[in-house]
Amino acid sequence: PGGRDGEVSKAQRAAAASEEVGGQPTIFSKIIDRTIPATILYEDDKCLVFRDVAPQAPVHFLVIPKLPIPRISRVGPQDTELLGHLLVVAARTAQAEGLADGYRLVINDGKHGAQSVYHLHLHVLGGRQMSWPPG
Ligand code: C5P
Repeated sequence: PGGRDGEVSKAQRAAAASEEVGGQPTIFSKIIDRTIPATILYEDDKCLVFRDVAPQAPVHFLVIPKLPIPRISRVGPQDTELLGHLLVVAARTAQAEGLADGYRLVINDGKHGAQSVYHLHLHVLGGRQMSWPPG
């Protein structure tokens, strides 16, 4: 992993993601590059965690990769380690946010999934009792 091939692949995938959203960077790219403000809870070289601007629970934050993967249905085997990292960061941030009684992890994909921002993100919602099935 890494090296020249890794870099080419990243650039190609970033271009593909950009194409999918009409050539415009998504609002999350602007949060990553600090063009748009957000309440950031955690950051490392691969991901960013920030509070959702329209929280649907007492605690609601998003975990996003810095690589602009547009949606979960576009991932491949090359993303396995990154996706695992996002889940571990989600769980550790939930713990730091005091969600000891549990929480919900959600990934919306595409039209039927009601995805609105085409930059992959994990929602973490907690601080209240959830119900099932979701809407
Ligand atoms: O999964 P979906 O694409 O619908 O979720 C996008 C989420 O991004 C929403 O929960 C919305 O409130 C959040 N958002 C945000 N900050 C922005 C724009 C959107 O937290 N500037």
